[in-house]
Amino acid sequence: MTTFNPTCGVCKKPVVAFAGGILANNFIVQLNHEIAEAGNWVAATDGEQGAQVNAVTLLLLDANKEALSPRGQTQSFKQHLLDRRMDRAAHKNRLRKILDYQERVAQGDAPELKDVYLLLHDRCAPQSWLDFGFWIPLERINDHQKALGWTMQLAGKHTTDLRVWVQTLEGIFGRIAV
Ligand SMILES: [Zn+2]
Repeated sequence: MTTFNPTCGVCKKPVVAFAGGILANNFIVQLNHEIAEAGNWVAATDGEQGAQVNAVTLLLLDANKEALSPRGQTQSFKQHLLDRRMDRAAHKNRLRKILDYQERVAQGDAPELKDVYLLLHDRCAPQSWLDFGFWIPLERINDHQKALGWTMQLAGKHTTDLRVWVQTLEGIFGRIAV
C-alpha cells in the first residue's frame, strides 16, 4: 500500500487516506449546466462552484489544446505556455474558448474532446458534478494493481488520452519505479 498523498484539484489540500475520488469526463455537459445555472458564463466562474469550474477549464485546455484552439489553427507550444500563464488567472478566457468549441460542435465542425480527470475530496465534489461525471472512489484505485486494472479499461476508450490518465495516476501514486 502506498502512502503517497495526492492533492485535491479544487482546494489544493492533500487527500489523506484516499478520502476522495477521481471525477472523469470531458465536462462539457457539466460546464453547460453550470453556465445555465449561473445565468451566464461570466457568473459561472465566480459562483459557489467557481473553483470547480476553474479547475476543470484549466485541465480541459491542457488536455485538449488543439481541439480548443481557434478554428483551423494549431497552437504553437510558445503560445500555449503564454496562454496557460495568462489563463491561471483569467478563468473567463478559458471558458470563452470552451464556449467557442461548443459553437463549432453545433456546426458539426469540432473534434471530440478527450476526457480529463479531476482528483477531488468527497467534500469538494458537488452532487451536481457527480451526476454528470464518472466517479472513481479512491478506495477503488488505492493500489498499483487496481490502477493497472483501470488503465487497461480506460485504454480501450477512444476518449481516453493515456498521457493525461498517467499524469493523474502520478498525482496519486507518484512515479512508479520499473
Ligand atoms: Zn478538496
